Amino acid sequence: MKKIVIAIDGFSSNGKSTMAKSLAKEIGYIYIDSGAMYRAVTLYCIENRLFDGEKLDDNKLHNEIDNIKVEFQLNKDTGTPETYLNGQNVESKIRSMEVSSKVSIVSAIPFVRHAMVALQQKMGDAKGIVMDGRDIGTVVFPNAEMKVFVTAEPEIRARRRFDELRSKGDTKTTFEEVLENLKTRDHLDQTRAESPLVKADDAILLDNSYMTIDEQMQWLLQKFKQITTN
Ligand code: C5P
Repeated sequence: MKKIVIAIDGFSSNGKSTMAKSLAKEIGYIYIDSGAMYRAVTLYCIENRLFDGEKLDDNKLHNEIDNIKVEFQLNKDTGTPETYLNGQNVESKIRSMEVSSKVSIVSAIPFVRHAMVALQQKMGDAKGIVMDGRDIGTVVFPNAEMKVFVTAEPEIRARRRFDELRSKGDTKTTFEEVLENLKTRDHLDQTRAESPLVKADDAILLDNSYMTIDEQMQWLLQKFKQITTN
């Protein structure tokens, strides 16, 4: 069967990553979480004091961008790739609320996007890849054979993210804070000048507000089969 590129884009916290990860496992493809790359650069900025409150020192980041190495390595126990920043496993650190609240500032910077997009395109050279993000079907892989644009109601997305944070031991962040962060990120991602979040014309829309994970997977597998057997 021919190998294809699968681009999954959409709003924050709508289960894209879980969906993309399971799909990749099911069909034997490589999974890449492009959001994790922007999160890793954001973590670098926080840890290296490039932020003064919400203000980022763009010039300093520009000088340092070539020294920021973001990679993925497979965790053999879970079978899923984890994010490494300059050789350190940062998979858990990049999911913090602090990173979530600053990542849209970093991901709006054109030179950051150019560096990440170049890396992402290289990862997709051999096809057989599922990548999720905001601009995968529009900018990174405009010729992807399968494009899905995922959406769900904001309150439902916030509830899922809130439950995830709680299950990981975050007892401080409130539901309202999560909802606010998600709405702010949606807005920033949709209105930025460089590669804004927008549905590609040829992407299939998936509203998963009232779908179970299993229903979603069946839906994706059906689309995948249609595309690869045609
Ligand atoms: O997917 P996730 O929510 O982890 O992404 C974190 C942030 O990274 C998004 O809010 C967005 O600002 C940015 N992002 C992006 N382009 C991508 C993936 C993520 O701008 N392809």
